[in-house]
Amino acid sequence: MLALPSPVTDLVGLSRTELAAQLAAFGAEPFRARQLWHWIYHRGATDFAAMSNLAKGLRDRLADTYAIGRPAVVRAQISADGTRKWLLRFADGQEAETVHIPEEDRGTLCVSSQVGCTLNCTFCHTGTQLLVRNLTAAEIVGQIMLARDALGEWPSAKDDRQVTNIVLMGMGEPLYNYDNVAAALKTVMDPEGLAISRRKITLSTAGVVPMIARVGAELGVNLAVSLHAVTDELRDRLVPLNRKYPIADLLDACRRYPGASNARRITFEYVMLKGVNDSQAEARELVRLLKGIPAKVNLIPFNPWPGAPYECPTGAAINAFSDIVFAAGYSAPVRTPRGRDISAACGQLKSDSLRPRRTVPSAAADSV
Ligand code: SAH
Repeated sequence: MLALPSPVTDLVGLSRTELAAQLAAFGAEPFRARQLWHWIYHRGATDFAAMSNLAKGLRDRLADTYAIGRPAVVRAQISADGTRKWLLRFADGQEAETVHIPEEDRGTLCVSSQVGCTLNCTFCHTGTQLLVRNLTAAEIVGQIMLARDALGEWPSAKDDRQVTNIVLMGMGEPLYNYDNVAAALKTVMDPEGLAISRRKITLSTAGVVPMIARVGAELGVNLAVSLHAVTDELRDRLVPLNRKYPIADLLDACRRYPGASNARRITFEYVMLKGVNDSQAEARELVRLLKGIPAKVNLIPFNPWPGAPYECPTGAAINAFSDIVFAAGYSAPVRTPRGRDISAACGQLKSDSLRPRRTVPSAAADSV
């Protein structure tokens, strides 16, 4: 008679405490958890057989019970500028994107926190996708593990790493999935594992004001805020979350953000939309609003997607805006979208591959 495969538990994404509890229940000595952690997050091992400091019998028993998994790659693309985009599929068939952006002196991995998004920002392609669920801590960590595999980045301590920085700027609103994001980031920051310091991690939010202080106090990562407008009237339209947490409240939370200083500034993202928010008067108002906040501004030319109700301003309009912000003493680089030749806006890789599918009740919606 054929034995059915026994259900396996994936060890990736468990906290150290959870990993220790799994191993204790399994009868292994406590220090084995530390050894396993090292194999998983420092060495990138996916096969228990490679764990040479564990007895053969233990390795076999571990392999029968556990897996060290990775999300499945549905599509992997490399752009002419070196940007890589992966469309990943998780165990339940849901998909999300991860993007690697190489630069001269660093490499940034843009990680998703949800499948889809509930915020429905009108310029954002991800908001057009109906299906939404939170990613688990394992699925968030899994994106980084997968990128490390693909870039040949093990062991962790290697010099000239290509994944030096992490930005939570992919699909989803990380502060509507705080617990899983926090758990994932703690694993990512663990110095005996992936070892990416909080100073190299940036969490981007559309402005979930009540959660912002916790990010600073509990995680201490860099904060980015998707501002995009200087009046509530316009921001209500672009970022509907503004109706709940208006600009003044959002900026107050930024003023109080623990750890923000001139050396560690809060990034304000501002997507440039032609004729909507790109005037020089708005640039001046932006400068006035940011007064007193250790800030830098990222100007993001609108990245178009089919059917989008916006256009990207001219280079001259973007530069004129940038010059005003810069003259007021803020860094205001124009962040030209990378990897445009392989797919444009974030979320589009996923939409391109979308099959008709059933909408399930949203797990994320009730955390609003
Ligand atoms: N929900 C979070 C993180 C995801 S969005 C947030 O709102 O910050 C990451 C960034 O991409 C945000 O600044 C978002 O406003 C921007 N963005 C989304 N769609 C875009 C588009 N089509 N063109 C340019 N930037 C876009």
